[in-house]
Amino acid sequence: MKSMVCIKPGSMEYKEHEMPEWKKGLTLLRITRIGICGTDLHAFDGSQPYFNYPRILGHELAAEIVKTDAEGFAEKEPVTFLPYFYCDQCTACKKGKTNCCASLKVCGVHIDGGMSEYFLVPSGYLLHGGSLAADELALVEPFSIGAHAVRRAEIARNEFALVMGAGPIGLATAEMARVAGAQVIMADVNERRLKFCREKLKMDHLANATAVDVEEYVRDVTQGAMPDVIFDATGNLSAINNAFRYMAHAGKYVLVGLQKKEIGFSHPEFHKREATLMSSRNATRQDFMHVMDCMEKKLINPGDYITNRMKFNEVKDKFENLLDPGNGAIKAVVEMD
Ligand SMILES: [Zn+2]
Ligand SMILES: [Zn+2]
Repeated sequence: MKSMVCIKPGSMEYKEHEMPEWKKGLTLLRITRIGICGTDLHAFDGSQPYFNYPRILGHELAAEIVKTDAEGFAEKEPVTFLPYFYCDQCTACKKGKTNCCASLKVCGVHIDGGMSEYFLVPSGYLLHGGSLAADELALVEPFSIGAHAVRRAEIARNEFALVMGAGPIGLATAEMARVAGAQVIMADVNERRLKFCREKLKMDHLANATAVDVEEYVRDVTQGAMPDVIFDATGNLSAINNAFRYMAHAGKYVLVGLQKKEIGFSHPEFHKREATLMSSRNATRQDFMHVMDCMEKKLINPGDYITNRMKFNEVKDKFENLLDPGNGAIKAVVEMD
């Protein structure tokens, strides 16, 4: 079987492997669709700091079961799976927060991922695909990142949520916040992405941070109250630091994006708001199931996000183009069949 291996930054090669050997407790999958994520692109361009090479990328996966002994699952059944392998022993796991397990192994990051014809997964991580199409199943993971952030924030109906950054994770967060009943405001510096929000996602409150003062804009939209919840999906230090000022009293700030430096904010400003600051990492089975339910009910439409498609044998040639912000890609998927 064939895999696409990221040999080192800037270099992708197809490799032939032995078929993975099926064992009890595992499920052999034939991969059908792979979503390409910012993580994959950063691994390729070398900007992922703690990444080891060579590595098979890919953690946004739709598949079909080849062989399993998992109860309730059948051969040929469409599935997706939780690509975050957890220990089930640590403090976080014992609290059910398997998303931030102390020894978490993320497929395609810490261990090899699914940019392969076949993939072997512990059966406990599988989720039934139900009536969802391969495109949808491949997008469950990125939407779940947004769903988890929204669940962390415990957003209430009609609260104002400001999402900073209209990349795939920011868009997923905005959509899941909308599903939760929030009034969403999106801020970004990229007019193409804001146009996507306006035209495809029918969002009303859009702030282009290069053209308007975001603080003024959100004050206007919220009639002075400011946003109840702020989600950062930029991973940009100055955007993160600035957004502390946009928070309502009793507000919450959820860091979904990640950057490497220390963040800084005014203690008195934070204190007088009795604000809550939290991070949001990956997602849990509960988030995956919520997203799949929203897809089945057509509350979200993953098809809107797929702007680029390629066949598995085109990945080597086309992957690098995805790094060019000028091509306006929101989400690219690899079709295996
Ligand atoms: Zn991803
Ligand atoms: Zn753990």
